[in-house]
Amino acid sequence: MAPWMRALLRVVLTVGGFDAAFVVADLVTEGHFPSGRAILIVSIVFVAVVAVAVIPSYRKMPRKRPWIHYQFTIAQVALPMFAAPWLGSMTGVVTPASCWPGSLSRGAGHEEVRGRVSSSLLLVHAHPDDESIGTGATMAKYAAEGARVTLVTCTLGENGEIIPPDLRHFLPDELGEYRIGELEAACAALGVTDHRFLGGAGHYRDSGMMGVEENEDPRCFWRASLDEAASLLAAVIDEVEPTAIVTYDANGFYGHPDHIQAHRVAWRARELSGSPARFYATALPASAAAQASRLPADSWFEPWTESEATVPDDQVTTTIDGSRYLEAKLAAMTAHATQITVDGEFWALSNNRGQRALGTEYFIQLAGPPGPAPSADLFG
Ligand SMILES: [Zn+2]
Repeated sequence: MAPWMRALLRVVLTVGGFDAAFVVADLVTEGHFPSGRAILIVSIVFVAVVAVAVIPSYRKMPRKRPWIHYQFTIAQVALPMFAAPWLGSMTGVVTPASCWPGSLSRGAGHEEVRGRVSSSLLLVHAHPDDESIGTGATMAKYAAEGARVTLVTCTLGENGEIIPPDLRHFLPDELGEYRIGELEAACAALGVTDHRFLGGAGHYRDSGMMGVEENEDPRCFWRASLDEAASLLAAVIDEVEPTAIVTYDANGFYGHPDHIQAHRVAWRARELSGSPARFYATALPASAAAQASRLPADSWFEPWTESEATVPDDQVTTTIDGSRYLEAKLAAMTAHATQITVDGEFWALSNNRGQRALGTEYFIQLAGPPGPAPSADLFG
């Protein structure tokens, strides 16, 4: 092979390798690869084919150590191929986590390829742990699929009941401080990197359950000025431009003042910012609650009988199958050890009433452009 031909071959291989990397990123984005492992296999096969095709031509080279050239050539192709997920992430098309070693499924709404992620999910939760219990699988799924996932937590949960005996000496402020770390660990387990406290950590205080004296604390979230809190959240909405906002229904899912306030603040913030985002409330359909409440015969948890928070199945508009991310959800719930006991796939709050953790999570769309109903995607 003439020297100029070898040089040309090298240029072609380098350009081809990078181009192949972007093709892979596009295919990943469009959901053609069923899993990260498939990408790895395709990459290895691609490199092997190139190696078989190229190595014989080097055999004729008048060099003393031709193996250096084989390796160089293979590296030229292999590096861009294996770097595909990272190249993709630089353009905002995919995230490395969505390619290696996790898995992908179609439906995160990445219509836009190259340039920016078209889907942004904003979750507004009252206390640390609510995100993992109610929406952990959904957050992990969308984060893994490359959507922008932003969590806003409104309080530090200073008034939560503490489960581990050795931590029960915490005063409310100490517990709030401690729960910042628990929430960080939970977000890490879910693959969520964008987390904020509304107005900064400790800006709003946990209001306690409805009717307790903490409701009267002027620093508590329940007493917050709706417009002030909403304008803080509207600034986040302006920044992350959510396609979908998730919080609770007007009853705060189960009547906790901070959950009711989270709904009001999120609703008002969406109005203030003029956001067209779909607005969702978390929901627990009766059939899922019945399934979740079935404990194994030998369970040491007490039976969970609360049904006040459930809704008729037909009210659910959107069902997110995050069962592939159930382990991440359980890990996130385990991170909230002051609040949650996790045993296998079952968990309980301080009342020790056990229920099965749900890999499928349910939502009711309250505003925004109507999507297909029923839907399996918060982005429509
Ligand atoms: Zn809560």
